[in-house]
Amino acid sequence: MKTCVVIGAGCAGLTAADALAQAGIEVTVLEARDRVGGRVWSDRAGNGALIERGAEFITAGYDATDAMVERLGLEYVGMGIRYPDRELRPDPGIDRAEALAAAHDVEAAAAAAGPDAMALDILATVEDDDIRELLASRSQSASSVALELLPAERLRTVSHLLDDGETRRIGGGNDGIALCLAERLGDAVRLEDPVSRIEHGPDGVRIHAESGVFEADACIVAVPLAVTQHIAFDPPLEAERIAAMNGIPVGQAAKLVVPAAQAIPPAAIMSTADRFWAYTTPCDEVGGTVVGSWIGGAPVMDLLDVDAGPATWVDRIRGFWTELPALDENAAETTIWRHDNPWTGGTYSAVTGIPDDRERHPIGDQLGRVAFAGEHTAPRDWTATIEGAIRSGQRAADEIITTLGGAA
Ligand SMILES: Cc1cc2nc3c(=O)[nH]c(=O)nc-3n(C[C@H](O)[C@H](O)[C@H](O)COP(=O)(O)OP(=O)(O)OC[C@H]3O[C@@H](n4cnc5c(N)ncnc54)[C@H](O)[C@@H]3O)c2cc1C
Repeated sequence: MKTCVVIGAGCAGLTAADALAQAGIEVTVLEARDRVGGRVWSDRAGNGALIERGAEFITAGYDATDAMVERLGLEYVGMGIRYPDRELRPDPGIDRAEALAAAHDVEAAAAAAGPDAMALDILATVEDDDIRELLASRSQSASSVALELLPAERLRTVSHLLDDGETRRIGGGNDGIALCLAERLGDAVRLEDPVSRIEHGPDGVRIHAESGVFEADACIVAVPLAVTQHIAFDPPLEAERIAAMNGIPVGQAAKLVVPAAQAIPPAAIMSTADRFWAYTTPCDEVGGTVVGSWIGGAPVMDLLDVDAGPATWVDRIRGFWTELPALDENAAETTIWRHDNPWTGGTYSAVTGIPDDRERHPIGDQLGRVAFAGEHTAPRDWTATIEGAIRSGQRAADEIITTLGGAA
């Protein structure tokens, strides 16, 4: 039987491992953490609310995720809010059609811009101050990269940030996908077993993990972009690949949950002054009694002093969402995704530099017996999402199945 080691039990790695197992390949999944799911991390708040400490919002076009949810017998639940379409406070009175038209102009300009152009250069061409600020704050928040560091290319899909379809979560928690896949894989998934070294050659691989050395015919590296570089490759990764990986910004973000004294109708409200937003949803399984909030980008994290705790953050939410009922501030919890997170290195990648004739970046190209998966290797416009992770896992599994001579 052919063998493959998959490194990383996030959506990408587990999707790949499941596809390999279905193809009759013996698979071992090595995961550093004590849980599966990676950046999808469903949990309970102090009041019992179901919360998402990582990926939360499933928006339009998640075709591979839809198929996976159906295949695993899971179900979506509507969040009652539109992730992209938020109420602005204070409300500058922006005309939605004008904002969308400006977003399409920005997309065209971003597509035509040179590889060194920055988002701020393109946004400067938007004439209306309020619309420019809206697109700027939404781009920084969604990419979780400080606007000053965000390449223009990341604006190529900025109009999606104004879509108005209802946002969904997976019932019981977004980690349902990872948990179901891991259950199918059983003992093949090994937790708390980080990989530090990969030896690879024409005949196979030797994977050095904390528990020992695993020999296999091939491997799939499905760890985040920033941590791929902490793994020693022998022979080393190509210089061009390393340079390209180093050139891709990885964001930073923080999430907050604060229990409320009573149920709050679903709402999504963005502070125009502070460039962050807060929301409520009945998906919390306690009737909409937690306020969630997202800060994308180090500048706003610093402004609200998230490292010192939730106090300033909760205060600012109260400042723009004045009709909120009493909040249990003592039970407020933050989850911080900074660059020092050892298994993620931040939030997600802001991949740029995909050649015109390619659907995805060459950093995801197979290297002999080693294939690469993970959101940063996803098809164009699907990086930084659950959808991209799943698509990348399927693609990497196909590559290895082909390399090993097809399904058994
Ligand atoms: C705070 C936050 C909010 C997000 N919000 C959304 C959202 O609303 N909607 C959306 O679609 N996407 C969102 N995303 C992005 C989404 O979570 C990711 O794109 C996706 O989950 C990435 O999956 P992955 O398998 O590529 O990586 P991961 O989920 O990071 O999986 C990689 C795995 O590799 C493991 N690992 C790391 N190093 C090693 C090692 N040396 N050895 C073994 N294992 C290792 C990690 O522990 C991890 O389990 C969000 C991400 C974050 C962080």
